Amino acid sequence: MTITPPPTPRRVVFDEPEFGDPRSLEPDDLDFDVSRETTLPKPARTRTLVIANQKGGVGKTTTAVNLATALAMGGLNVLVIDLDPQGNASTALGIEHHEGIQGTYEVLTANSPIETLIKRSPEARGLWVLPATIDLAGAEIGLVSTPARESRLLHALRSFNRKYRPDYVFIDCPPSLGLLTLNALVAAEEILIPIQCEYYALEGVSQLLRTINLVKGAMNDQLVLSTVLLTMYDGRTRLASQVAAEVREHFPAETLKAAIPRSVRVSEAPSYGQSVLTYHAASAGAQAYMEAAAELAARGAAMTEEEQSA
Ligand code: ATP
Ligand code: MG
Repeated sequence: MTITPPPTPRRVVFDEPEFGDPRSLEPDDLDFDVSRETTLPKPARTRTLVIANQKGGVGKTTTAVNLATALAMGGLNVLVIDLDPQGNASTALGIEHHEGIQGTYEVLTANSPIETLIKRSPEARGLWVLPATIDLAGAEIGLVSTPARESRLLHALRSFNRKYRPDYVFIDCPPSLGLLTLNALVAAEEILIPIQCEYYALEGVSQLLRTINLVKGAMNDQLVLSTVLLTMYDGRTRLASQVAAEVREHFPAETLKAAIPRSVRVSEAPSYGQSVLTYHAASAGAQAYMEAAAELAARGAAMTEEEQSA
């Protein structure tokens, strides 16, 4: 397979002098409270979505990264919390996460405030990332003896959200249902499940739903499965359309109309430290993520109206 080089120079947007080096900005420079023009509707209050599926490689990180970038490009303020020791979301959003960089690990284990450790992603204005390093792999074990070990992210995020009022927070989870994912399920209000259009796609989902119900009953009664996104959809295969139809039947209200096609551009983008939206905006994958983001934002705005009229 030949990999085509990126069509445009990386980070072209930040060559403009007014932005300077995005990484040199201090947390005080957070533009979360600056009202700027938006092309996507804002939710009335922060929506916190956990991207979960204990099945590996179904597109959790790709979805977190690209939806977050699309929403930020639409003028919304977005935080991505990388909760996976692999740090793939940090990489794809152009954020360094080698050993020694502080991030999610310190928030969970040392009570460090989120705002002191987040980095501005060069992918879009208003997009911030709490990076994950490999240290996080030790947090699963390290936290076991800690009091309130499952609600550490919740407390940190509550305090951050109160201060900065981001529009969206996405939490990218590792492919397991351990203590890290549990922290995310306790901290979030909504779950977004990416489902890869392949055989066995729904098998892991029922286990995930049981876990969600357990967490809901015991630790977070606000938690709802709000969104399902079909990923790596290959319309040429009958299997993909069968799986897609089955998912839509199970989750008629939750499943977004937009399905993400299998696309080489989507898989190439992270190796350039980019989302597919800046890497190849015209590609089918980028367009699909933009559509999905627009749907998500529209639903967020509609939820608000319902709440207001209730
Ligand atoms: P993990 O469980 O390891 O965290 P994940 O669920 O986060 O994995 P991703 O890392 O997003 O999954 O995707 C798995 C692989 O599939 C990656 O190599 C990614 O680039 C690729 N991929 C994701 N979405 C697409 C797509 N729409 N088209 C082609 N490749 C894709
Ligand atoms: Mg991942």
